[in-house]
This record gives sequence, structure tokens and C-alpha cells, in this order.
Amino acid sequence: MKITDIRVRPVDRFLFVEVETDAGIKGLGESGTWGYLEASGEAVNTFKRYLIGQDPLRIEHHWQYLYRWTHFRGAAIMGALSAIDIALWDIAGKHFGVPSHQLLGGRTRDRARAYYHVYGENLEQTLQGCLAAKAAGFTALGHLSPFLDEPREKPYYETHIQLIEGAIDRVRQFREAVGDAVDLCIEVHRRLTPAEAVALARGIEQYRPFFIEDPTLPDNLDAMAEIASKVHVPIATGERLHTIFEFEMLLARNAVHYVRPDVCMCGGITHAKKIAALAEARYVRVVPHNPLGPVSTAACVQLAACIPNFALQEFPLMPGTVGAEHLPPGGEAAPEGMVDSALKLENGYIVIPDVPGIGVTLAEDAEERFPFRPRPVKTRLHADGSVVDQ
Ligand SMILES: [Mg+2]
Repeated sequence: MKITDIRVRPVDRFLFVEVETDAGIKGLGESGTWGYLEASGEAVNTFKRYLIGQDPLRIEHHWQYLYRWTHFRGAAIMGALSAIDIALWDIAGKHFGVPSHQLLGGRTRDRARAYYHVYGENLEQTLQGCLAAKAAGFTALGHLSPFLDEPREKPYYETHIQLIEGAIDRVRQFREAVGDAVDLCIEVHRRLTPAEAVALARGIEQYRPFFIEDPTLPDNLDAMAEIASKVHVPIATGERLHTIFEFEMLLARNAVHYVRPDVCMCGGITHAKKIAALAEARYVRVVPHNPLGPVSTAACVQLAACIPNFALQEFPLMPGTVGAEHLPPGGEAAPEGMVDSALKLENGYIVIPDVPGIGVTLAEDAEERFPFRPRPVKTRLHADGSVVDQ
């Protein structure tokens, strides 16, 4: 079998990559580089110059060949490599007539516990989202910001005590709304300094969140380790990291309790499984980051299916699920009819699919029906005009 073509397929808010073979088998992948999907698509076109004519089953070799070909690294390149890697695992599964996870050690579980995205521009919307998700059977809620998802156009200002006490009180209300049958994954979105993060984590410890995510900017691993050493709430981080090398440095600092590799950015299924193994050696569990499209979700579920230390699966909005009324501008669900997916959601769990490959295909006319929409560059500002993380 040989690779005959690679198609970069920008659709709606997503960047899909389709690898074609002379056996008539196609594999589908997705890049997770969020605001830089166009750049990632161009990196796929560069990789394509090597991949045409290659055997698609030499997945590890192609990964090494492309990653180590030249000097440079970064999100656009790793999104491209991840999309290709996922597509090759899809091809391998279809070639052997088994789900991709069967080639990665087989099933460690039958279903993957999912956490639902909750959005809200104000507290009332956020609490409604929590209750709707619980009513729909979810046992975990994430993307749950104690600072709410306020419009980015709104200048930000709070005193220190408003910032910390306001956030603690909202977490109290989240907990009171759903009781103890639902886990809360608190998403800080990098808003705080390490000192502020310690104050918040100590204040919400009594409400037993499952974890607190990205309590500060994640670029400095030592700063994250300092927070982890001072609080009694588990830390989740890693969505921006690209490789096993970066995750190893994070883990070596005891800076994380739940790693969050993005299968569409960390090097695909190949590298995500290795990252899970690094975490396993430290009894750290994995919560795959998955904020984008349905191919990402399908790839994450293949990973969840075959690793022993999977914890929760981020599950963004899909047509027919709860919460659409709570979506912020730009946060709408993947459009109906864009993909054909074998994934099924039952009582807050995604059932591990049993079809060959990763279990998702893209409509042939997806580009025409759902034209690509580049993300606007829009950063929230403080009342004084400086940049705020949200
Ligand atoms: Mg996050």
C-alpha cells in the first residue's frame, strides 16, 4: 500500500487532513492549532512532498522522519504532524479491519467518561448549563470558569478581593447546584498569577473540584510546580505542550496531577500514547484536551480506549446534545451533516466504537456546505488597556 495524495480540508472552524492510498483506503485526521489552522495546513503541504509514495503503515518511522527532518518546532508544525499521524492510524485500522485502538494494545475499557463543556456569560447561564448537563446524564462538568465567559469586548476590572472571593463563591454555587453526583473541572484559563492561584485554590479546596486547570500561564513549568506544591487541589495542564519531551519536564517537576495532551497538537495518537505512559509511571492520569472538531474527539476516544490511566474525556458540544442555548458567540457546535461518526454518547459516557479505524468520515462536499471560517484575532483587555488572559 502506498500514499497517493494528501488533502488539506478546511471546513467550518476546523482543519481536517485526508490521506489517500492506492488501496482505496482513506484516513482522516485533524489539526488542533486553534488560531493557526491555515499555517498548519501549509505545514501539511510541506510534509506531503515526502509522504506521497510512502507506505502508510510505517507510522512511527514517518513521525520520526518528519519531526527530525529540520530544525524547527512549534504548534503549526505539530498540528500538521498530529493530523497526519491520526489519519495514518485510521488507515492502519481500516487496512487490518479493526478499530485503531486494537493495534495499540486493545481495549482497557468499554466506555470513556466524558466531561461536558459548560459556558456562560453570567452566573445564571453557567448554573443553567450545569443543571442541563447533569439532567442529560453527565457526571463531570468542565470548561467551568469561576470568572465566567464574559464577552471579550468587555474591559476587565476587579479588585483583588473581588477576583478571589467572587471566584470562590461561584465555585460554591456550582457545587450547590449539582451536588456530589457530578465532578467539577475548574478552568482558570491562565487568568491568575501564581500567588493569586494559590489563594483561589485554597479557597475552593472545600468544594472538592476534580482539578483546577491552567491556574496560571503554562509557559513557565517552575511556576506551575510552585503552585502545585502549595495547594491541595489537583492541577491539570498541558494543552499547549507539543511533545513527550515537554511533558517529561512538566512531570519531572511534580507540576501536574492530570496531564492534558491534545491529540491533534501533541504529535497525534502515537505521541499521546507515549505521554500517557510517562504519566502512568508517576500515577498521573490523562484528560485528553479536545476543544475542536469531531475527528479530534474520535482520535481521543481511541486513546482513551487503550491506555490504563485515562480519567475523563473533554467533550465539546455536538448537535443533539445539551447546552446549545448556553453557547457564547463563536462557540457553536459542529454543524449537522459535516461528518458521519460512530461515536455514541450514553449517560455521560462515550461508548468505545467497534468499527475499523477511528470511526469518523467527512462528507465529500463538506468544504462547499460548511465554508472555512478563520478565527478573529480578539484578545480581552483590562480597563487600563493592557492584555488579560481569558
Ligand atoms: Mg483548558
